[in-house]
Amino acid sequence: MNSCTISKVPFLDLRVTDDAERQELLDAVDTVLRHGRIVLGPEVEQFEQRVASLCGRKYSVGINSGTDAIYLGLRSLGIGPGDEVITTALSWVATANAIALTGATPVFADILDDLTIDPASVARLVSSGTKAILPVHYTGKICRTEELLAITDQYAIPLIEDAAQAFGATRFGKPAGSFGTIACFSMNPMKVLAACGEAGAIVTDSADTVERLHALRYNGTVNREICLEPSLNGRLDTIQAAILLKRLDHITRVIGRRREIAAYYHKSLQGVVKCPHEESGCLDSWYTYTIQVEGRDELKAFLAERGIETKIQHPILMPHQSAYKRCRAETANAERLLTRILCIPCHEKLSDDDASCVTSSIRNFYGA
Ligand SMILES: *Cc1c(COP(=O)(O)O)cnc(C)c1O
Repeated sequence: MNSCTISKVPFLDLRVTDDAERQELLDAVDTVLRHGRIVLGPEVEQFEQRVASLCGRKYSVGINSGTDAIYLGLRSLGIGPGDEVITTALSWVATANAIALTGATPVFADILDDLTIDPASVARLVSSGTKAILPVHYTGKICRTEELLAITDQYAIPLIEDAAQAFGATRFGKPAGSFGTIACFSMNPMKVLAACGEAGAIVTDSADTVERLHALRYNGTVNREICLEPSLNGRLDTIQAAILLKRLDHITRVIGRRREIAAYYHKSLQGVVKCPHEESGCLDSWYTYTIQVEGRDELKAFLAERGIETKIQHPILMPHQSAYKRCRAETANAERLLTRILCIPCHEKLSDDDASCVTSSIRNFYGA
């Protein structure tokens, strides 16, 4: 792997380029069109069962997006106006929005050098108003759940996993989604387990929570008629569930290929840039491969000139968004890291040549 003759290395490629895979997905859609149970059809329930079992949980509820999964998940636990929910400073703004839309106030904890939430910062931010802790398994790395569960146990409040980036990751043998009172997933087209449209899911061991979620995901109704509380329409499409069931058949291979690329990057870039570190006993899902560098913006421009697409996820800390400027926050380490992070292409369709092009260009930039 040393050539660099590729004209373009995309950050992600959402096309279905494999003929067998495309046929499999078309067949799955065709099955739904033929049986006609378009809304909450049998594939939704099959998908829920597969997700629950892969997460080591009793139940799963299919939801139409990760954002709605977090929002409805918070509501199912009674989080609302007057409550505070502690989350991380660095995430996609959906995490904070889901909290704010319940009427609760997000509080933002600082992050560790591995970009996941810092439990010590969480502990400092707990107040009498804190009603839940909502960490993110950022980049597909499960956060420090042991320390966070010690805090939630101490205050008898729920831990809610934003596992949107981490389906398939494990920490000391336990899968993402198995740690919290509930856990929320996104299966949007950018995620490692991806639908061909918007999709999400919640997992839990509580039958009561499931019952509440079934009402909350359909306008707060019971038996589709009686409205107990206002809510939105957050049901998962049968067609997306059918597609996700097929994608689940290949998830081990998909994560395996990402893992291969990550290992190659580590080998080629170690000592040149700060590479993400997978803790021993843990398997990350490699949603992103985020390096930390000096001269980040110059490197990004240098790679763009060579056709290599990179991303800064996410360039604005949530507490710095105008919507959240007045919320309590600790951001010292997050602010420092925000100038250094860069996500380089790490998806399963990346060829060995593409990966080689990425590393040789980065080495080139640093004169390595
Ligand atoms: C993608 C994502 C979400 C939102 O999921 P959608 O399905 O896009 O609504 C929430 N939190 C995190 C950390 C995410 O990466």
